[in-house]
Amino acid sequence: MEITTKEEISWCPGCTNFFIKKSVEDALKNLIAEGYKQEEFVMVTDIGCAGKMYDYLNISGINALHGRTLPTMIGIKIGNPHLKVIGFAGDGGTYDEGMDHFIHSCRYNNDMNLIVHNNQVFALTVGQATAVSQIGFKEKTHPFGVKERPINPIVLALESGATFVARANSLDIQGTKEIIQDGIKHRGFSFIEIMQPCITFFDNREILKKNSYKISTMNKEDAIKEAKKWNYEDNGKIPIGIFYKENRETFEDNYDILKI
Ligand code: SF4
Repeated sequence: MEITTKEEISWCPGCTNFFIKKSVEDALKNLIAEGYKQEEFVMVTDIGCAGKMYDYLNISGINALHGRTLPTMIGIKIGNPHLKVIGFAGDGGTYDEGMDHFIHSCRYNNDMNLIVHNNQVFALTVGQATAVSQIGFKEKTHPFGVKERPINPIVLALESGATFVARANSLDIQGTKEIIQDGIKHRGFSFIEIMQPCITFFDNREILKKNSYKISTMNKEDAIKEAKKWNYEDNGKIPIGIFYKENRETFEDNYDILKI
């Protein structure tokens, strides 16, 4: 069975979401070659450019309300704990509308995989600031520039208890594919933030190319220190890789009714 659909793709020409789509397709193909079944994978998306993955990937799923990717994923997983549930959401949907769900999913350690396409902007609604936009970023709702400091979702995920925390660079298709494969294989809540320049509303491709460096997995204390080295500004080096992973009982482990 093909891993992609024949839907016409409506992302802007050259959008880095094409790279993420390629990484995801390659990761899923490899996992299927290793023995996973295509029908075991279920995706949840919400609204936004990232949400269009729903039309392009040939796996089952639900296109949910904006910011509600994670509760929909949890519902699917409770309904059938055998499924491998993958979420695709943007930084707006996850770090703004969906922030409470994000923190609690890290805390619960649900056995599922969240992929955040982080372009530091609400792209589909034409360029408004999100919780990770840079200070000084100007758009129609912030004509004088964003004044508030961005949050740091990697630190937040680590502090909240996520058991697999990673950041990928969408421009590195192979590296992103490997992180996605590891994240899907992980037992517990895996959070992968993929830096994904929006070439129309926030094009930081050159910064991402120039400033990224690779990290290796480390202990939690060091991972938090490493994550704090970059707070989504232009000047500063950007750590890329798996910050942290651990084995811990999952949400599903704690409920006998889910052990089917
Ligand atoms: Fe990609 Fe930005 Fe266009 Fe959305 S608006 S498709 S993120 S380039």
